[in-house]
Amino acid sequence: MVSIDRLTRVHNRNHYELQVPLEIERANRNKMSLAFLIIDIDDFKKINDTYGHDAGDRMLRLVAQTVRASLRKIDLLFRYGGEEFIVLLPGAAIDSARRTAERIRGVVARAEAAIEGGKKLKVTISIGGCIYPAHAQNESQLFRMADKALYAAKEEGKNRVIFCGE
Ligand code: GH3
Ligand code: MG
Ligand code: MG
Repeated sequence: MVSIDRLTRVHNRNHYELQVPLEIERANRNKMSLAFLIIDIDDFKKINDTYGHDAGDRMLRLVAQTVRASLRKIDLLFRYGGEEFIVLLPGAAIDSARRTAERIRGVVARAEAAIEGGKKLKVTISIGGCIYPAHAQNESQLFRMADKALYAAKEEGKNRVIFCGE
């Protein structure tokens, strides 16, 4: 299972590296856009510090599975780093990408992870997005633009979606 992240059971970074060029090629061939989202859990260090690493792991799994469940079959979800995920939405232009990102943000904010002692934990996420080919023309540009938008989302108070150019 070289393409699956063991903790969250979604695609891993290795698979991301292989898949992005293929999705860009497919977008070109179909003359369609491709939306690129970076998701980062808000204040995740606090979860680990307050409730322990196991609770953090449980939360990571919940976030990954909640995001996966709110996507279409053709959409792709990758765990890119510790508590960062990337979503590719084939065929999505800015309006539908924004709707999807807002839906993801909302479902994650409502999801609850059960931890020891019957306590329930919640987290929020921030999302930075951009669109191929409108905002960026290759993987490294897409990543950079979405990461910049994510940074703005964090700066503006977290638990929000920002697209590049906003
Ligand atoms: P921000 O809202 O700015 O994103 O704050 P943050 O606390 O989420 O950001 P920061 O990058 O400081 O912390 C990320 C934390 O994610 C730190 C690290 O311990 C935790 N983390 C990364 N990978 C894992 C993992 O696999 N399991 C657990 N439990 N924690 C992880
Ligand atoms: Mg992070
Ligand atoms: Mg974070």
